[in-house]
Amino acid sequence: MDILGLWQKAVDFHGHMCGGLLTGFLASVYASSILTLDFSADEEVVCISENDACGVDAIQSMLGCTVGKGNLLFHMTGKSAYSFYSRKTGKSVRLLKVGDVPDPKTIDIVEYCRSRGYEEIFSFQNTVIAIPERARIFDSYICDCCGENTGANWIRIQNGKKLCLDCASRYDRFRI
Ligand SMILES: [Zn+2]
Ligand SMILES: [Zn+2]
Repeated sequence: MDILGLWQKAVDFHGHMCGGLLTGFLASVYASSILTLDFSADEEVVCISENDACGVDAIQSMLGCTVGKGNLLFHMTGKSAYSFYSRKTGKSVRLLKVGDVPDPKTIDIVEYCRSRGYEEIFSFQNTVIAIPERARIFDSYICDCCGENTGANWIRIQNGKKLCLDCASRYDRFRI
């Protein structure tokens, strides 16, 4: 898909056109060229985003990094920074926004991408967070308090009882 098609897809997915979406879009295009990434049908491409703003939607739409597949993760610092990893090549890059991104309604996206150097917008760094392991399927357990089923990694043991997080916090407060 060409730049215009990819941009349109990102806008459709996000629901509106905004500078934040363009930031994530440009980061995806830049990361794709640095790491030679394609759309991730499985978990080959991993993104760790340091914010949960509009730009993340462009990354989901462009690179196929999604919460459900486990290849979109958050390391919340509130910064406009994204780390991208290729499982295929083992290469990775952290992009930090350092330049201004225009209002996308005021530009020709194809012309903009052709004429601007991405180095003006992002500083390019080595990643500091190690590539996460592939998403795991966990066992699940029935909460001894509410009877609802939940993944093993969310279960807390209190006084020998397996509790979901909701029941565990209630248990704490009221000493049921
Ligand atoms: Zn937006
Ligand atoms: Zn429960």
